[in-house]
Amino acid sequence: KGLKKYFDVTGGIFSRKIGEVKAVDDVSFEVYEGEVLGIVGESGCGKSTTGKTLLRLIEPTDGQVFFNGEDITNLDEDGMRKKRRDMQIIFQDPYASLNPRHKVEKILSEPLIVHGIGTKEERKEKVKKILEVVGLSGEHASRYPHQFSGGQRQRIGIARALIVNPKLIVCDEPVSALDVSIQSQILNLMEDLQEEFGLTYLFIAHDLSVVKHISDRIGVMYLGRMVELTGNEALYDNPLHPYTKSLLSAIPDPDPDMKKERIILEGDVPSPSNPPSGCAFHTRCPDVMDMCKAVRPEFQEVHDKHFVACHLYDTDVPR
Ligand code: SF4
Ligand code: MG
Repeated sequence: KGLKKYFDVTGGIFSRKIGEVKAVDDVSFEVYEGEVLGIVGESGCGKSTTGKTLLRLIEPTDGQVFFNGEDITNLDEDGMRKKRRDMQIIFQDPYASLNPRHKVEKILSEPLIVHGIGTKEERKEKVKKILEVVGLSGEHASRYPHQFSGGQRQRIGIARALIVNPKLIVCDEPVSALDVSIQSQILNLMEDLQEEFGLTYLFIAHDLSVVKHISDRIGVMYLGRMVELTGNEALYDNPLHPYTKSLLSAIPDPDPDMKKERIILEGDVPSPSNPPSGCAFHTRCPDVMDMCKAVRPEFQEVHDKHFVACHLYDTDVPR
């Protein structure tokens, strides 16, 4: 609720603060139990930072995080550690996120030890089981990360998140570092696991085509802000925000008769350390109006559970 994360930018020989990057700038949303909420946006839009802030792996500058109705924003380290049994994360890069000096056995037992789960024997058994759940085998426990392919390593990353039996998993671009040929294998696995264990995912991706299949609802971020949030079908069939429309127009259509027009955006994504005034998208928006440059649009519910931040949908402002 009202989540913000500003990073200081320092410079000069004394490393003084010379500015700040508004990586996440007043973002509010809910994730419902048992759903997959996809979050998409270009790199640097603040989606990963948002995900990590929910787990307090990054401390928010402002705003609140609730889990099961409990405000966890100010929980101390010990309290937060206990919460993380229910809130896990799968990282983007399965190469960087697994300690290369540890065998899989150790990597996967660590969360169990942290949370005081099981005896040594029971932990061994759990590691074996979870490896099978993610499509590997018990024998893989005695190997090192470098002995696996990228896809297998991400399976280990998934197993590590899953082994403590969490409720929510923040999936931070879990397939974008993988070969295209194995992305769908990992996506299918994650989808199966979500159903089998009744998991809740916050599923972050930079590409709408990745989240299309797996998400119940989708949120679109641009320059640290949530610009649209709605159900999967509503987003694809009736996108409201001009930015969402441009993202959707970039997805190739499987039906060649359905000629859709590709919306090409002018210019680059502006720097988050110096975001445009008013609507942050106004420098690239095909529908820009005068007021967009001055007034930041509210994130408001336009239809039932369909939220958008765009002046095109203001009802109370004369244009
Ligand atoms: Fe475009 Fe204005 Fe809507 Fe921003 S508020 S997306 S600039 S029309
Ligand atoms: Mg990222």
